[in-house]
Amino acid sequence: MMLQVRDMHVRYGPIHAVHGIDLDVAAGEIVALIGANGAGKTTTVKAIAGLLPFSGSVMLDGRPVKPGAAERNLRAGISLVPEGRGILGRMTVQENLQMGIYCRNDKREAAADLEGMYQRFPILAERRSGLASLLSGGEQQMLAIARALLSRPRLLLLDEPSLGLAPKMASFVFDLILSLRETGLTVLLVEQKARHTLKIADRAYLLELGRVVTSGRAKDLANDPVISQTFLGGRPLAGEEVGARADDQGVGVSAGSSLR
Ligand code: ATP
Repeated sequence: MMLQVRDMHVRYGPIHAVHGIDLDVAAGEIVALIGANGAGKTTTVKAIAGLLPFSGSVMLDGRPVKPGAAERNLRAGISLVPEGRGILGRMTVQENLQMGIYCRNDKREAAADLEGMYQRFPILAERRSGLASLLSGGEQQMLAIARALLSRPRLLLLDEPSLGLAPKMASFVFDLILSLRETGLTVLLVEQKARHTLKIADRAYLLELGRVVTSGRAKDLANDPVISQTFLGGRPLAGEEVGARADDQGVGVSAGSSLR
């Protein structure tokens, strides 16, 4: 396993937000953490990224990840795109991307990677000198992901990348995540849009009140009647075409294909 989390507990003072979570992510997988507001998804990925203290164990490629050491984790290959994206709107697209290479010692290669991002995401190249705040929500998410990729992560943690996006933009971001897996990246994805998330993930963990209540192959969870009743609005996914749902408008018509 690339990432192995065992008996992780996270507390905010007296609030015990994460109650002994076990989770695994294998190399090349997209693994989703789904669950309602306040279930502990953000807390879990922040702790893995080293932004919160925890007890229990987190191993990356068999090596322990110590709590509260975000920069060391980044150098070890764990990169987090936080909820809300963390884009600095008053800085240019280029300046935001440059933040992604600050931790790298190989400056020449890093600069070449930055140029490579512009080839991979031509929209960002067009807006290179413009303020990041002028990008659309979906483009800002693309910028946040591009910035995270510049640290050359092995494991990308994405916290609610579709939050606040119109359905078409959300689909665009889901397609972008799928395209990341094609490049061999491993992704741990926090999402509230469970239905769409289970379509792109390999496996998923359902959190409730800081605990894993169920986990398994995303396909199986999507078709589990209890889960679909409770979390997916009562409609199992079986037999559905991607893009056929009214609440998933825009799937298949996004600009995702141009990213590959
Ligand atoms: P959301 O989708 O709202 O981000 P989540 O599943 O990511 O939900 P968390 O944000 O991890 O959930 O919150 C888990 C629990 O921890 C909640 O009860 C929340 O109120 C609490 N919590 C989160 N951040 C803090 C904080 N800074 N201080 C105190 N309690 C917090």
